[in-house]
Amino acid sequence: MIPQAWRGTGVVAVIGLGKSGVAATRLLAREGVRVYASDASEHPYGGDALESLRTLGGVALDVGRHDLARIRGAAAVIVSPGVPPEAPPLAAAREARVPILSEIDLGFRALSGSGTRCIAITGTNGKTTTTALVAHLLRAAGVHAEAAGNIGRPLADIALENEHYQWLAVEVSSFQLHDSPHFTPEIGILTNLAPDHLDRYPSVEAYYADKRLLFRNASPAQVWVLNGDEPAVLELAAGVPGRRALFSLRRPADGWYDPGARRLHLGREALLARAELGLLGNHNVANALAAALAVREAGVPSAAIGAGLRSFRALPHRLEPVRDVGGVHWINDSKATNIASTVVAVEAMDRPFVLLLGGRHKGEPYTRLAPLLKDRCRLVIAYGEAGPLVAQDLGGQVPLERGTTFEDVVARARRAAQPGDAVLLSPACSSYDMFKNYEERGATFRKLVEAM
Ligand code: ADP
Repeated sequence: MIPQAWRGTGVVAVIGLGKSGVAATRLLAREGVRVYASDASEHPYGGDALESLRTLGGVALDVGRHDLARIRGAAAVIVSPGVPPEAPPLAAAREARVPILSEIDLGFRALSGSGTRCIAITGTNGKTTTTALVAHLLRAAGVHAEAAGNIGRPLADIALENEHYQWLAVEVSSFQLHDSPHFTPEIGILTNLAPDHLDRYPSVEAYYADKRLLFRNASPAQVWVLNGDEPAVLELAAGVPGRRALFSLRRPADGWYDPGARRLHLGREALLARAELGLLGNHNVANALAAALAVREAGVPSAAIGAGLRSFRALPHRLEPVRDVGGVHWINDSKATNIASTVVAVEAMDRPFVLLLGGRHKGEPYTRLAPLLKDRCRLVIAYGEAGPLVAQDLGGQVPLERGTTFEDVVARARRAAQPGDAVLLSPACSSYDMFKNYEERGATFRKLVEAM
C-alpha cells in the first residue's frame, strides 16, 4: 500500500526519468499522490514514455534540471537505479532527512495485498539470465508469471496493470536493494559474489553489505537459494532466518551438477542431461540450478522444471548461438564488455575457436586471457580502438591478426575457422568506438553471419 501521508498535501519527488522513473510517476499519480518528477538530462535514457507524463494531472515535470528546494520539501524521493548516491538531488534529500526509496520498493508496496508473490534474484553475475530462467520455468509449468526489475519491466509498471500475476521474477541490483526497506520476496536467489562497481562503492565490504540487504526482512517463512560453492555467499547469509536451498557445480546439494555423468540433479532426482540444456558454459549450469531450486520452492514439479530447462534458449548477445555455417558454430557474446565476461565465455568453449576481441578499451590488461587461449584458440582477431593494446598484450603468445572494419573482422574469422570450430564474438571491450551499444554490435554480427 502507498503510505497515506503521501496523499493529501505531500509531494513525492521522482529522480531520474528512465523507464522505471516514468512508471513510478504514473503509479503515484494513479494513487492520487502529487509528484515532482525531474531528470538532469532533457532526454533521459530509456525515457521514451516521458511525453505521457506531460498530460497527467498532479505531476510537475522538470527536465534538464533538479529543483533542490522542492526535493528537500518532499515527503519521499523515488530514485532510479542509474542515479549515483552522491548526485546533488540525493545529497539534498539526505540532508533534509527525506526518505529515499527505489522504484522496486514503491512497486512492491503497491502490489502488496494483491496476492502476487516474488522471487528476487541478485548477485554479481548471472542476474538477468537467472531471472529469465525463473520466469520461463514458471510459465512453462503453466504459472502466470512475469520477469520484472532490471531485466526490463519495472515493478511499478506491473502494479499499474490490471493483470494479476501469481509470481514475479524480480532482478534486483545492489543499488536497488540499498533503497528497498520494504522489499520482502518469498524466495531470494544469491547467484554469486565478486568485487564489482568499485566506481560507486568505497570498498568491496560496502558493496557486499548492500547485497546482504536481500535478507533485511528475513523471516522463517522465506527461502534463500544460495551458491553453495562460494564461501562468501554462505558467509553473507550466515544467521539469516529462513530455509536455505544450496546449489553446487561440484558436489551433491539441493540442486547440483554431476560433472562425471554430465547430469543436473535436484537432490536425489535427476533433472536432465547437460547436453539437453541449450546453454553454453558451466556458469549457465549454475544459473539453471539456481532457477530450478527457486521454482521448485514455488511449487513447480521436477518433471515440469526439466521440460522448461530443455526449452530455454540463451538470451540475445549472451553466448547466443547464431548459426552453423559449413560446420562452424558462430556465437554472439556481444554483452561481454569486460575481461571477466570474456574469461567465462572462453571457458565455456568445448572446441577450437576463433576469438573476436576489441572495441573501446576499458582499462584492464588483456594478458589475463593468454593462458586460457594458449592451447585452444585458433586465432585472435584484434580490432577497434583497443586493437593495438590487444595485439601488444597477447601477440607472440597466441596466433593473432589485426582486423580493420567489423566486416573485415568477420571475413577474416570465416577464412580462419575450420569445420568443427567455433567463432566467438566476446569482445572484452565496450562497443562505443564502432556502435551505439552492445546490442547493435551483436545485431550487426548476426546480420553478417546470416548473410553467409
Ligand atoms: P547480470 O545481469 O548479473 O549482468 P547476465 O545474465 O546478463 O548477468 O550475464 C552477464 C555476463 O556475466 C555473462 O555474459 C557471463 O559472462 C557472466 N555470467 C553469467 N552468469 C554467470 C555466473 N553464474 N557466474 C559467473 N559469471 C556469469
